[in-house]
Amino acid sequence: MTFDAHFKTDIILDRDGVINLDSDEYVKTIDEWIPIESSIEAIALLHKSGYRVFVATNQSGISRGYYSVETLKAMHQKMLGLVDLAGGFITDIAFCPHSPDDNCDCRKPKAGLLTSLADTNDIALNQSIVIGDSLRDLDSAILVGAKPMLVLTGNGKKTQHDNPNLNLPTFENLYDAVKSILT
Ligand SMILES: [Mg+2]
Ligand SMILES: [Zn+2]
Repeated sequence: MTFDAHFKTDIILDRDGVINLDSDEYVKTIDEWIPIESSIEAIALLHKSGYRVFVATNQSGISRGYYSVETLKAMHQKMLGLVDLAGGFITDIAFCPHSPDDNCDCRKPKAGLLTSLADTNDIALNQSIVIGDSLRDLDSAILVGAKPMLVLTGNGKKTQHDNPNLNLPTFENLYDAVKSILT
């Protein structure tokens, strides 16, 4: 990957369908938060290779009343615990609790989640990589000048099918995307 050597590359991941199995019925409980095979190892690999890893995730299920912020944070504790066990680290997590009707500035494809992560953590977004399974992840990346990567887990195959002209780096899963970043 060729980036301006003055800036570090940070990795920003979507959550559902990239790190954990997505569900049309939403991921509402700790037990429903189930990692995709090898995704935790992929995050650990990034960390061990010197990359900072962030998560930016739309969680409209909160606004819809399907689960609380407390439950979301408990899901994230589970995720962070598994990542820690694998020797990895997630520096920060940004989530949008709003529904599309709330018209907020953070729900992807808007830029707010990425820009707030960048402000808090001194991320050079135009030197960073955003990995997602849905078009809105990729669109928010393009909006802030980050490099989008599509994974075919979660909603990824549908995203690819529905957008045949997407000319983006595409990978079977997060682990394959990470391997390509590291080579
Ligand atoms: Mg997703
Ligand atoms: Zn929002």
